[in-house]
Amino acid sequence: MGAKSQLVHNFSAGPGALPKKVIERVRNDFPNWNGTGMSITEISHRSKDFIECASKAENNLRSLLNVPDDYHVLFLQGGATLQFSMIPMNLGEKNSLVDYVVTGSWGNKAVKEAKKYKHVNIVSDSVANNYTSINDENTWSRSEVADYIHITSNETIAGVEYNFVPETGNIPLVSDISSTILSRPLEISKFGLVYAGAQKNIGPAGLTIVIVRKDLINDMPKIPALLNYHNYIESQSMYNTPPVFSWYVAGLVFEYLLDCGGLKVIEKINKEKSKLLYDFVDNSEFYSNPVDKKCRSRMNIPFLLKDNSLNELFLAKSLSEGLANLKGHRSVGGMRASIYNATGIDAVRDLIDFMKGFENKFG
Ligand SMILES: *Cc1c(COP(=O)(O)O)cnc(C)c1O
Repeated sequence: MGAKSQLVHNFSAGPGALPKKVIERVRNDFPNWNGTGMSITEISHRSKDFIECASKAENNLRSLLNVPDDYHVLFLQGGATLQFSMIPMNLGEKNSLVDYVVTGSWGNKAVKEAKKYKHVNIVSDSVANNYTSINDENTWSRSEVADYIHITSNETIAGVEYNFVPETGNIPLVSDISSTILSRPLEISKFGLVYAGAQKNIGPAGLTIVIVRKDLINDMPKIPALLNYHNYIESQSMYNTPPVFSWYVAGLVFEYLLDCGGLKVIEKINKEKSKLLYDFVDNSEFYSNPVDKKCRSRMNIPFLLKDNSLNELFLAKSLSEGLANLKGHRSVGGMRASIYNATGIDAVRDLIDFMKGFENKFG
């Protein structure tokens, strides 16, 4: 590997890798999609062909995640970031009290937006340990009455993931699952609403998935139409032109995951992938990961080199070996290997081989 024309193992945190099979299928089908004689980006979203494609994607996502019938599945735009605003604008009473658990940067961004519409109670904030852990649930100070409680299932930057679903009783649990969706089974019925930008573990950017319990949504005629969940529900997520290409590719990814055997199979692979890399890092004197073992992410694995001055060399050498996008987020430093569904165990093995070789030579 290494020549510009060769494919690489992609460890990007987002937009992340797509399954090779899906990319090939898109390439083959693109010029003449579904026998229409046109590409999918050139046909009406109201056409029978697209509506079939769209509802097939929804049905496949529903079966992957076992979404109960009393939940809507919405295909929106604006990224997970727009959900930081849409959730407080749509859920519960105006200016009511809502609970937020902050376990990293994305949670902080969600709070910042929520404060514009709600009274926000910070239930717990793990800033004191530099977002390397999730504070024990029995230290959380939850409100007795909150319209919802918000968590970030996986903090993509620091690599911190819940390995449990908090019990919130009658208070709807809302979660940002952008970087963990479809990496493992999820018990949707424990949540009021979950949301995810597509470009981490699903498909191309431009699409955002929202799964929400039907009784939580009311029409909000005073807010802008495109921020009102009700309008998407009424229009099968086609209030205006939806992101047709992203929706179609996401549908291919759902089909691919079902063909792989579904999320139990995917979870097993993801456990194995992440364990390989964590075990290697933990047994090394040269590499380290600061995250509490109880809440280490299976998807995003940051690691530091013992000597920071070797970072640039590590990145240049790894890229020349066909291992792309390992640079850590600027707020954490070091490296980050994002190993979403489409980054296979072969990629993790090649990364570990490279890391061993690098340590031997420069460590
Ligand atoms: C990437 C990311 C976001 C932001 O997503 P956009 O789709 O770019 O708005 C929000 N939350 C988490 C956990 C993320 O990983």
